[in-house]
Amino acid sequence: MNIPDSSFPRIVVVGGGFGGLQIIKNLPKGKFQIVLIDKHNYHAFQPLLYQVATAGLEPDSIAYPLRKIFKSRSDFFFRLAEVKSINAEEKSIHTSLGDLDYDHLVLATGTVTNFFGNDTLAKLSMGMKSVPEALNIRSLLLENFEAALLTDDLKERESLMNVVIVGAGPTGVELAGAIAELRSHVLPMDYPDLDFRRMSIHLVEGMDKVLPPMSDQSSLKAHKFLESLGVQVWLNTRVEDYDGKTITTSGKPMLTQTLIWAAGVHCIPPEGLSGKDLVRGNRVKVNRFNQVPGKDGLYVIGDAAYMETKNFPKGHPQVAQPAIQQGKLLAKNLVRETNGQIMREFEYKDLGSMATIGRTRAVADLPKLKTQGAFAWVIWMFVHLMALVGFRNRVVVFFNWTYNFFNYNRDIRLIIRPFKNQPQ
Ligand SMILES: Cc1cc2nc3c(=O)[nH]c(=O)nc-3n(C[C@H](O)[C@H](O)[C@H](O)COP(=O)(O)OP(=O)(O)OC[C@H]3O[C@@H](n4cnc5c(N)ncnc54)[C@H](O)[C@@H]3O)c2cc1C
Repeated sequence: MNIPDSSFPRIVVVGGGFGGLQIIKNLPKGKFQIVLIDKHNYHAFQPLLYQVATAGLEPDSIAYPLRKIFKSRSDFFFRLAEVKSINAEEKSIHTSLGDLDYDHLVLATGTVTNFFGNDTLAKLSMGMKSVPEALNIRSLLLENFEAALLTDDLKERESLMNVVIVGAGPTGVELAGAIAELRSHVLPMDYPDLDFRRMSIHLVEGMDKVLPPMSDQSSLKAHKFLESLGVQVWLNTRVEDYDGKTITTSGKPMLTQTLIWAAGVHCIPPEGLSGKDLVRGNRVKVNRFNQVPGKDGLYVIGDAAYMETKNFPKGHPQVAQPAIQQGKLLAKNLVRETNGQIMREFEYKDLGSMATIGRTRAVADLPKLKTQGAFAWVIWMFVHLMALVGFRNRVVVFFNWTYNFFNYNRDIRLIIRPFKNQPQ
């Protein structure tokens, strides 16, 4: 992989997501050789993927080149590669570019969409875990409207216009709200020949409420917001099958050629970890220092890590903050270990959760405040703007939001590359 030898211990970080970035940012210069490996050459800000999918933002305003983030560090090396397997005994990894030895290996590989073993759903529906997947959704939505114009068959036209989203967690709720706004303000301008009263947006959830991890107050309000935008919410409903046009559910069948799957994630850790290292969803079991027990120098952080604590006996939620906080602490702990000091245990500080359903409609459960509506929406925008990587991206996103707010329009209705459904 052409990484020079170094007198400093080598820390290999796999994954430049929220956790991977934080550990590197918090490692002091001049103490380690740092190698970051990612199969993409950019950090993707996943919370705003839904805006790329619904033509609200360009993909490059939520992605940032990994090399640029660490350009001032001479101890930093980036390789664009996929890590295939780990040999924990020999402390080496096998990647798509070759092999590499490590002193410390940090897996921050996140999750991918979980279709729960249903190959048909995996083939015919779309996940939204990456920038290419979000662009795929944008392309398919627009291509289906182009196709809807060309058919006289009413049923076929409705199936091309309808959208079904499975999973009413934050991703599903935010997507449903954004597509409903497209239907109200944007699509009728582009496709005046189509009757948008015939377009349905369905949000299907297996549990008995939307936003299951949030407070009842926020969940109920989000449900009301969705209904006010014309989204049909189906609770306690499970998808059973899909043939590309009709979804069979435990309730009524639904007609659509756009099925978005936001109903779960799981991890695909590199080979080399045995069954006893993995728990539900293939998360890797770690101790309070993010170490994998019995595997010297191997750490896992973020969505891919499963750590039991008193307050989180079933592991931490798979959201950005645990990844960020674990990355920060592990950087400090690696320095402590190198200095012969004792490592500190991880304790998650829950900063709350939020979701936006549309303009001036959001819900926020913060440690000292639960709020819904316009104020929550302003908080949501501020938090997401500040969390974006890169000053340019913040300015571009702020400009886009302001522009879209005043003219109710979304200009990025482009089919740059045709829809191609493949896991990315
Ligand atoms: C659509 C969506 C919306 C979300 N909204 C929110 C939100 O509003 N608030 C919130 O807190 N959280 C949200 N999340 C969850 C949040 O994004 C994740 O919890 C967070 O990204 C986890 O960070 P991580 O570092 O563990 O992994 P990730 O950020 O997923 O990063 C993993 C990285 O590893 C790389 N990688 C994976 N496998 C390999 C391999 N074998 N070889 C090389 N590279 C590899 C990937 O390319 C990726 O860059 C959302 C997630 C999604 C998908």
